[in-house]
Amino acid sequence: MFQSERSALIVVDVQNGFTPGGNLAVAEADQIIPRINEIAQYFDNIVLTQDWHPENHVSFADNHANAKPFDTIQLSYGKQVLWPVHCVQGTSDAALHPDLNIPQAQLVIRKGFHRHIDSYSAFMEADHKTTTGLAGYLKERGIDSVFVVGIATDFCVAWTAIDAAKMGFKSFVISDATKGIDLDGSLQNAWQDMTAHGVQRIYAKDVLPIEQDICSNPVEYLLNQ
Ligand code: ZN
Repeated sequence: MFQSERSALIVVDVQNGFTPGGNLAVAEADQIIPRINEIAQYFDNIVLTQDWHPENHVSFADNHANAKPFDTIQLSYGKQVLWPVHCVQGTSDAALHPDLNIPQAQLVIRKGFHRHIDSYSAFMEADHKTTTGLAGYLKERGIDSVFVVGIATDFCVAWTAIDAAKMGFKSFVISDATKGIDLDGSLQNAWQDMTAHGVQRIYAKDVLPIEQDICSNPVEYLLNQ
């Protein structure tokens, strides 16, 4: 194990609900899982997130009159995309994907459990006021850099990476270990937003050891830039 003890990998929402066969399936999202498992072998600190909604959650189109999935409505805290019912607490749709093989992860943070607030970010709910406690957990453990992977690039991954940057962490997204929904250009917008907030876009090759050079530590190199 040669990763920096100052860095954490955040694996966002690799759940049945967001992979093919799930209620809010992101095309081909299951294909990034082997890469995430490989990357995870090189991190000492790993946090998994799990979208975890009550049945009556405000983000479900079914809970609004005359609404359909992917409509956008205005809530007290701002714009909200309405989704199909997904990741309901305790259902198999909400379970972590069976191919995800990271038993060494230390924390599973569940989000979106407040009925009236959605939570794309692992750090902050969508009202931008209610914290999940993750920043405190990481800071108390001396972690100052986060590497984000998972689903979906343009929603939960982007919001997590941006909040990490806002909260003072060095924030990286390992682009080829994420998969996006891309709703009306949302993927491109998300990358622009992330870049504007100082999030760095990197690739799996940037964090995996270089073959025949197992002494190198790519993450230390990135952090020292
Ligand atoms: Zn959700």
